[in-house]
Amino acid sequence: MRYKNLGSTDIRASVLGFGGIPIQRVSTETAVEILAECKAHGINFIDTARMYTDSEDKIGAYFRAHGRQGWYVATKSPARDYAGMQKDINISLGKMGCDYIDLYQLHNVGTLADLQRALQADGAMAALEEARTKGLVRHIGITGHKPEVLEAAVDTGRFATIQIPFSALEQQGIAVMKKAREKGMGVIAMKPLAGGALTAAAAALDFIFNSPWVDVAIPGMDAVEQVRENCSVLEKGATPEQKRELDELIASLGSQFCRRCEYCQPCPAGLKIPSMFLFEGYYTRYNLREWALERYVSLPVKASECTQCGVCETRCPYELPIREMLKQVAATMEK
Ligand code: SF4
Ligand code: SF4
Repeated sequence: MRYKNLGSTDIRASVLGFGGIPIQRVSTETAVEILAECKAHGINFIDTARMYTDSEDKIGAYFRAHGRQGWYVATKSPARDYAGMQKDINISLGKMGCDYIDLYQLHNVGTLADLQRALQADGAMAALEEARTKGLVRHIGITGHKPEVLEAAVDTGRFATIQIPFSALEQQGIAVMKKAREKGMGVIAMKPLAGGALTAAAAALDFIFNSPWVDVAIPGMDAVEQVRENCSVLEKGATPEQKRELDELIASLGSQFCRRCEYCQPCPAGLKIPSMFLFEGYYTRYNLREWALERYVSLPVKASECTQCGVCETRCPYELPIREMLKQVAATMEK
């Protein structure tokens, strides 16, 4: 295993970390086996979230069976107010059976207003900083998809890490990743397989492992074999054939891929466009069908209710044919 310092924190993380999304779909017993395999290969960094249903519970089950020693634990909450964040920190500690969490992150901060809300005197940041004073949280980070929002967070000087999507397909975050590193912050790459779009996993991971901008990448792993395969990529690299496969895949995906930047919002008809593409992706690529359908059903307006006004397409920087893509979402999620 290779290790890097996570910015100027005292965390020396394995460059291959453990992303906690996919263990939602496996049994607790399997999740514990996967984490034990990770430990055996030297993986020492876990990233999960309050939003990932029972992911924290399963990580807690592993810690209760095998101990937490040797692990760095990161989680995150969507709360933006003081009380909500304080409550979530305590829930995370309880579910994972931990006395402290190494890195607690503001989860998916989507707009500058969203960031400002969290930074207000009665905001989530105050609860995080208080928890850090009490030793319940050691470092505070932020996650998001929009480089300009993360850049504003970097400029505050109040965060130790950023977490941003980064892969061979999604490289729009390089400037902010570079800036964060220059300021001594840690950089965590989420979605190293572009949310499942990059099926050429070996070459995609190899790309991330060799990126100078990334400290730790956190692919989700839902099987012991996947842990072994990912560790093998780290050890041996990708073959020329696998790299060619990745290049061809990226060329074929072209621009037809939602980056969740949310520039298309708001939709006059109330559609939450990126969420729709996200849930469809989880349904079709991550095999989290029940999870994705449950969330899709809870959306107030469905893809089939798009009025075809086209406003969103004029705002999408990637020129996605959103209306056509929403028809596909409706066909998949509302059948
Ligand atoms: S085309 Fe559909 S999704 Fe796009 S803004 Fe109009 S109603 Fe909303
Ligand atoms: S549809 Fe386009 S504008 Fe909307 S979130 Fe996806 S990439 Fe961004």
